[in-house]
Amino acid sequence: LTAEEQAVLDEIDDENVDFLRLQFTDILGVVKNVSVPAHQAEKAFTEGIYFDGSSIEGFVRIQESDMRLVPDPETFAVLPWRDDGGDSGAARLICDIVGTDGEPFVGGPRQVLKSVLEKADDMGYSVSIGPEPEFFLFKTDDEGNATTIPHDNGGYFDLAPKDLASDVRKEIIFTLEEMGFEIEASHHEVAEGQHEINFKYADALTTADNIATFRAVVRAVAAQHDLHATFMPKPIAEINGSGMHSHISLFDEDGNAFADSDDEFNLSETAYQFMGGILNHAQAFTAVTNPTVNSYKRLVPGYEAPIYVAWSDTNRSALVRVPDAAGVSARFEVRSPDPSCNPYLGMAALIAAGLHGIETDADPGDPVREDIYEFDEAKREEYGIETLPPNLGAAVDALEADDVVQDALGPHVSEKFAEAKSQEFSEYLTQVSEWEEDRYLETF
Ligand code: GLU
Ligand code: MG
Ligand code: MG
Repeated sequence: LTAEEQAVLDEIDDENVDFLRLQFTDILGVVKNVSVPAHQAEKAFTEGIYFDGSSIEGFVRIQESDMRLVPDPETFAVLPWRDDGGDSGAARLICDIVGTDGEPFVGGPRQVLKSVLEKADDMGYSVSIGPEPEFFLFKTDDEGNATTIPHDNGGYFDLAPKDLASDVRKEIIFTLEEMGFEIEASHHEVAEGQHEINFKYADALTTADNIATFRAVVRAVAAQHDLHATFMPKPIAEINGSGMHSHISLFDEDGNAFADSDDEFNLSETAYQFMGGILNHAQAFTAVTNPTVNSYKRLVPGYEAPIYVAWSDTNRSALVRVPDAAGVSARFEVRSPDPSCNPYLGMAALIAAGLHGIETDADPGDPVREDIYEFDEAKREEYGIETLPPNLGAAVDALEADDVVQDALGPHVSEKFAEAKSQEFSEYLTQVSEWEEDRYLETF
């Protein structure tokens, strides 16, 4: 065992941990758990724990289904809640997936992100990402099912008592802190029942792990209050949806490689190249960062979500916004991702797009300072501003036409992902919605 692995075993003893939840994420971003008694920890580190990969969405065919979960000791965290009210507890470990051949499984989302980060490392960079996940808290009905009735009627930055949820939000934050999160800020968002909690930026792998954990904690704490927390991107029509803006910067041995105090926006040449790559591949990575049919109901004009492939230092209608920050904090914010995405694949796609921008000296063009929501098509054309794909089907087409993003995901994941998402979109197209019923049933 490595020193780190031994330290985990010691902590398991000290903290009275009985059960380990071995956690990983399938291609669609759903968190899976395998529970093992804590005394299996040593075996998990040395041999891994076998599981049937064929039962996991997008993993493998039935004839090659023996896979192993190998825990990453750095991700050990005792779960703050006790399942049985007693003093024995559970801890979780996030796992990598190893195939029968003993090699890391190329279809594991965490592995996909690791490969992209290795490439960044070869180029001399580590990647920092600070996410801003938004979510809604909804009431549950008498049977405990989720409704779309907001838990409160607060608005942007409202404080209690209007912001009824601030107690729940506080408890979410305390729970996250117990699990090692450093929370930067939290506030009531624009819509009723909508919230945002920002945690400190970290290297991209830690951030992706954190997002997966964050979603689980938020939902668990909300449930304890008979509320349903949802990361669905647009739960209610005509009201702001939930995004997961991602603040990105690259660090090299000299510090923040995105910083240049001589530049008007405090950004370096490297930052602009990376941004250029983001804009060039935005059509393609959208399928990954906005992976549901519902994601595209958020990406419409008028709700602070981006539709236009452009950058700006002032307005929120552009895909990339440069906040007023310099030095170690110099960075930009990609505004399109939403919290329904697989965080590993989403980050991998964004980073690969940006790194490709550095390699090809991509140019993001000039910032757009006007509100692009107000532009008509002619003006957008004059400025050369493209729009993001209008729906999941178009997004999958764009992904399939882009080698850079597909290479980042690898052939296995790109293929499985595109297949699952095309199917999801086709199924959606055949549905008859409430809107159609309201509009046509009595008219025709
Ligand atoms: N909720 C908005 C979105 O869908 C973002 C609001 C904000 O700027 O924080 O992206
Ligand atoms: Mg926000
Ligand atoms: Mg933001």
